[in-house]
Amino acid sequence: VNLGVLALQGAVREHLKMIESLGHHGLIIKKPEELSDVDGLILPGGESTTMGKLLNKYNFLPALNKFHQQKKPIFGTCAGLILLAKEINNSESVHLAFMDIKVERNAFGRQRESFEADLDILGFSSKFRAVFIRAPYIMEVGKGVDILSKFADKIVLAKEGHLLASAFHPELTEDTRVHQIFIEMVENRLKQLA
Ligand code: GLN
Repeated sequence: VNLGVLALQGAVREHLKMIESLGHHGLIIKKPEELSDVDGLILPGGESTTMGKLLNKYNFLPALNKFHQQKKPIFGTCAGLILLAKEINNSESVHLAFMDIKVERNAFGRQRESFEADLDILGFSSKFRAVFIRAPYIMEVGKGVDILSKFADKIVLAKEGHLLASAFHPELTEDTRVHQIFIEMVENRLKQLA
């Protein structure tokens, strides 16, 4: 399948490498019109406020809204999760507001700015080593949202229909299983259309 990685800012290259290592095509997305070339999109980690501003500046919102309405899968990692959220704690503004989750930014505090943890993820037969970098977490989910993993009682991986969101950076280890969840979502949608 063809997967795009939004490349306005942030951790783009590692996602592309992982997509290619799984035998799929990874495309760098720098312009809204490039979204029509891909069947799924990754919103990478980085800085959500900056990325949100760049989305506006480069007029991405109409094309992203269409992508979402077509139920093309979108995977937000870390800052990308914040972009997807309908609600951000202590903040008036939201970005894409596609996913029925309430999030808190920089949620693990100063002592734990960056850390790794072994997660239990629904459907995985062994732990997943996850890298957290000034990570957000999901405080609340709507009833259409499936919780796939928690760490220290905080939700760190969730899925709502064609949307997937992780608080951690699954592109920073060799373990491809979280990306495989996303690729399956993309493949399943294409099968349903065929
Ligand atoms: N703390 C960042 C933010 O709020 C996210 C960090 C990350 O993507 N690694 O945007």
